[in-house]
Amino acid sequence: MSAHIIDGKAVAARLRARIATQVTDFVTAAGRAPGLAVVLVGEDPASAVYVRSKGKATREAGMESIEHRLAADIGQAELLALIDTLNADPAVDGILVQLPLPEGIDEQAVITRIDPDKDVDGFHPVNVGRLATGLDGFVPCTPAGCVMLLKETIGDLTGLDAVVIGRSNIVGKPMAALLIAESCTVTVAHSRTRDLAGVVARADIVVAAVGRPEMVRGEWIKPGATVIDVGINRTEAGLVGDVDFAGAMSVAAAVTPVPGGVGPMTIACLLRNTLISAHRRAGIAFDERAA
Ligand code: NAD
Repeated sequence: MSAHIIDGKAVAARLRARIATQVTDFVTAAGRAPGLAVVLVGEDPASAVYVRSKGKATREAGMESIEHRLAADIGQAELLALIDTLNADPAVDGILVQLPLPEGIDEQAVITRIDPDKDVDGFHPVNVGRLATGLDGFVPCTPAGCVMLLKETIGDLTGLDAVVIGRSNIVGKPMAALLIAESCTVTVAHSRTRDLAGVVARADIVVAAVGRPEMVRGEWIKPGATVIDVGINRTEAGLVGDVDFAGAMSVAAAVTPVPGGVGPMTIACLLRNTLISAHRRAGIAFDERAA
């Protein structure tokens, strides 16, 4: 048996095409394009790649990309002052500060300085609280993209057993919150979990967000499960996920590849959040749930 490969690239391309049309409608109604400000501090090569592809995708969707590149030794006060300026700028609907930040800058202080209503990454504690409570806010892009792929593949997720491996603020925790909202029975596994293989074996849905190459073995996976691999690991053999892809393919019903699975969805969801923000800020009606 060979599982279905979940084509995140294709799903993301469809979402981005829909967003581009909705951006055109927004421009007609508001007389301006939605604006996304991206702040990159320092020279981290992976971060530079992410920022470049976010800028390109933003422009391709017809939105304004406002990019700020700052030296690694910038002081925290200067960075916070830039965020204040972006918070006050009416042309900016979304603000994203690329993480990780260089040593010496308090990441949490920077995140909490962003206006929660422009926090399209969804990392501000106000948006974390909104997600936990079921209020409208901004949902972190990577887990939002994972849920879209799951619904596209499975349909209704109600009652399914889901295991999220990883408890980071960026992926694991919001992923668990979203799966609870979809009425899954959710287990969160992490570095202190006992018998990870046994925990994974119960799951209809496995979401791996660890950052360890091919750690989740095919033989752990329940036959017929759906596997979402968030991991991006650079190895000598190239880019690999957190899941033993070949092993998973022989038991699961569906698996995301790395690359070409979750990654493209993350950027598409960032554009979606920016478009949502632009409508909210301009007071223009928009069916967010259908978007
Ligand atoms: P993180 O380092 O913040 O968190 C890793 C989590 O894994 C921790 O909660 C830890 O408890 C858990 N963990 C570590 N060792 C473990 C073990 N042996 N068993 C079980 N759990 C263990 O990482 P993150 O920011 O959540 O990212 C995770 C992975 O996802 C990374 O590879 C990252 O590059 C990738 N990522 C991909 C995207 C995307 O768009 N595709 C976005 C964000 C992160």
